[in-house]
Amino acid sequence: MTHNVSQQLFDRAKQVIPGGVNSPVRAFRAVGGSPIFIKSAQGPYIFDEDGRRYIELINSWGPMILGHAQELIQKAISDALQHSFSYGAPTRREVDMAELIVSMVPSIEKVRMVNSGTEATMSAVRVARGFTGRDKMIKFEGCYHGHADSFLIAAGSGAITNGVPDSPGVTRGVANDTLTAPFNDLAAVQLLVEANPAQIAAIILEPVVGNMGLVLPQPGFLEGLRTICDQHGIVLIFDEVMTGFRLSKAGYQGLVDVKPDLTTLGKIIGGGLPVGAYGGRADLMNYVSPAGPVYQAGTLSGNPLAMAAGLAMLTYLDEHPETYTTLDQFGSRLEGGIRAENRKAGRDFTLNRIGSMYTLFMTEQPVTNFADAKSADLPLFGRYFHAMLDRGVYLAPSQFESLFLSTALTNELIDEVLAAHSEALQEILVAA
Ligand SMILES: *Cc1c(COP(=O)(O)O)cnc(C)c1O
Repeated sequence: MTHNVSQQLFDRAKQVIPGGVNSPVRAFRAVGGSPIFIKSAQGPYIFDEDGRRYIELINSWGPMILGHAQELIQKAISDALQHSFSYGAPTRREVDMAELIVSMVPSIEKVRMVNSGTEATMSAVRVARGFTGRDKMIKFEGCYHGHADSFLIAAGSGAITNGVPDSPGVTRGVANDTLTAPFNDLAAVQLLVEANPAQIAAIILEPVVGNMGLVLPQPGFLEGLRTICDQHGIVLIFDEVMTGFRLSKAGYQGLVDVKPDLTTLGKIIGGGLPVGAYGGRADLMNYVSPAGPVYQAGTLSGNPLAMAAGLAMLTYLDEHPETYTTLDQFGSRLEGGIRAENRKAGRDFTLNRIGSMYTLFMTEQPVTNFADAKSADLPLFGRYFHAMLDRGVYLAPSQFESLFLSTALTNELIDEVLAAHSEALQEILVAA
């Protein structure tokens, strides 16, 4: 299908922006073709520059959990707008925001606001290193924690499909301090810890991974990590930038019996504006400057517009627990329908889902780690993506991403997605 205006914009963009985009996955390289440029979005729909309408299943990679241009958030931003846009000085909203986060996420006793998920994870690891006096950390293959140097080792999301998991520009020294293990492999973590006695500051993970496609922790995995951390004085960091406020108002940790020492947040926390946060045990967070020696700062941190949007979002989610039931019902309807269509087509593709996050993997093998995820048929996914786009459904342009539902969906819209899925499947399997 032709998208003339998007194509023209992309041609211009490529002249002045590396690869034509400000974040790699947007360039559609993992699925082929050229990106569609977005003009606007409203509720469950997103509109491109060529005037086409799509049902939204990305929702800005999570933040638009209430759908686009939600009035509540709009009003909060426009109210804040009247009073100037940045002070670089403390404000009342930052206190309200911190109190609300602490009340919603029980493992967080103190919290610091930053401007992105990248800043949150980078800072959390610095705190863990400062607190423990150790240099190394363990991360998991296929987990993505933003683009700070020390995380670009076996990283997920756009770093997978770009084929540069070990990015040039990351020094060997930095890479040496990042140890990696397969997700869900407790024995591998145990070996790393024993091979590096008293050297590991932190274990960081997405407790539910969104960035290699959706992958769930197996029973006992998080509990096992907690035990290893307790035995060896290691700081356990849950990167809930995606799952925070999405899987429950306390994130994934609100659904399980394992508490991290530090948590990183992003995406939903800003209601669509650029916000991140890290927080956790008070004794750890008291290491952060100016309370303690670990330096971390930000000119625009706690920005008044961003705090207004985030506060409106979190307040709504705190006061409307039924949001999560609704989202799970949408997820369940979609999952049931997709599975039924797949069986009809004779292909029992793996579908991983929790609540309003899911990934359909183009493989019939279970996907429990990055190696499994990479066994998916990527060309087939590319054809599926375009077949869905042609039918007005906007999916993530990569197999290694989760989709994110919003409350702006309806059962009718989900049935439209299912009808598109049925047709798309026929088209791509015939072509194969
Ligand atoms: C998106 C994401 C990040 C990075 O957040 P940015 O705001 O893009 O810097 C970090 N961790 C996880 C789990 C994410 O999904």
